[in-house]
Amino acid sequence: LTESRLYQSNDKSPLQIFVRAKKKINDIYGEIEEYVHETTTFINALHAEAEIVDKAERELFESYVYKVAAIREVLQRDHMKVAFFGRTSNGKSSVINAMLREKILPSGIGHTTNCFCQVEGSNGGEAYLMKEGSDEKLNVVNIKQLANALCQEKLCESSLVRIFWPRERCSLLRDDVVFVDSPGVDVSANLDDWIDNHCLNADVFVLVLNAESTMTRAEKQFFHTVSQKLSKPNIFILNNRWDASANEPECQESELAKVKSQHTERCIDFLTKELKVSNEKEAAERVFFVSARETLQARIEEAKGNPPHMGAIAEGFQMRYFEFQDFERKFEECISQSAVKTKFQQHSSRGKSVSGDMKSMLDNIYERITIFRNLKQDQKNMLTERIQGTETQMMQVTREMKMKIHNMVEEVEEKVSKALNE
Ligand code: GDP
Repeated sequence: LTESRLYQSNDKSPLQIFVRAKKKINDIYGEIEEYVHETTTFINALHAEAEIVDKAERELFESYVYKVAAIREVLQRDHMKVAFFGRTSNGKSSVINAMLREKILPSGIGHTTNCFCQVEGSNGGEAYLMKEGSDEKLNVVNIKQLANALCQEKLCESSLVRIFWPRERCSLLRDDVVFVDSPGVDVSANLDDWIDNHCLNADVFVLVLNAESTMTRAEKQFFHTVSQKLSKPNIFILNNRWDASANEPECQESELAKVKSQHTERCIDFLTKELKVSNEKEAAERVFFVSARETLQARIEEAKGNPPHMGAIAEGFQMRYFEFQDFERKFEECISQSAVKTKFQQHSSRGKSVSGDMKSMLDNIYERITIFRNLKQDQKNMLTERIQGTETQMMQVTREMKMKIHNMVEEVEEKVSKALNE
């Protein structure tokens, strides 16, 4: 209990890899933005003073201001996305609720949602709902009202309802994980649309199976299509309702272990041999036997200050609870690493190319300024030389004039005295 509480509140969670990377890349882009602004102001001033940069160049610099601003906006909205698939009633909504530690999504008979539901964190403690194509915030007072809203609405099965839930209520929402619940893969013929509209930017997929039965063709087919469209998707498999197997009246422990190993083998084969998305070792770390309903109940008890086992449904609670936590830990590691790569790698190389382009443009301008300065210096030197030449000439002329005048004066004097004598 202590450990799980610590885990909830501390920053040792693997999700922090993403959180820290997001902060860092946002800070770096903040610096790039400042640099772009400063450079553009400088370039504009340079244009006004001397026509060293032309109009096209100035426009190019200005285009970087918009480019960087657009990237910053995308970056601030970036999150980690996990999508849940499986047949109706396998427990997809229950798994999401268990992870969120609260009954947020409606689950159970009569509450089958026939559209995609996305749960994401909201700021300011607000809980509300938004339908696709509308900006209207519909207030969510309680879960019953949310369930009714989702069931009564005539919604297209591949449309999306976004549920905003206060970030501070759950560490996963606080750390920017977005959950997507899907209608059962058994009810749709539009799997392609689903994948195109909701899956292409998912970092992790969770297949929720019913441990009491085997994987169906529809479930397999869906993931075949996903792995054709995405290269090596990250897939986790949850064999849910594992409590029910333990509750079987004549179920011996050895029998249970046999069933578990059969399911495990099938799931690993599916990931490695059929989908070819992971190797044996990786796949073994992606298959879990859990009870979502029990985990949720345990967490609700924990929130009340009670021991988690008060939420137990059947024998073997500790093992199942531990396995759910193990799943969460591995899921968090996987999603944060994958999201950092898919979301930030592209931005960081764009950032590098923007600053690289600007640097080479500035180098170019600097070169032109140097040439311009040298040219001016040459002109100045030529002018100085010319002035100096003129000065020498003038002195020469002056000296000659002086001599001439002197001679003239002497001549005149001579003439005058001669005339006087005569
Ligand atoms: P979804 O249609 O896949 O989203 O399934 P839900 O989460 O709505 O679950 C369908 C029903 O199965 C609900 O009544 C849940 O309470 C129940 N359920 C879900 N997970 C478990 C589980 O692990 N054990 C048991 N016993 N019941 C579960």
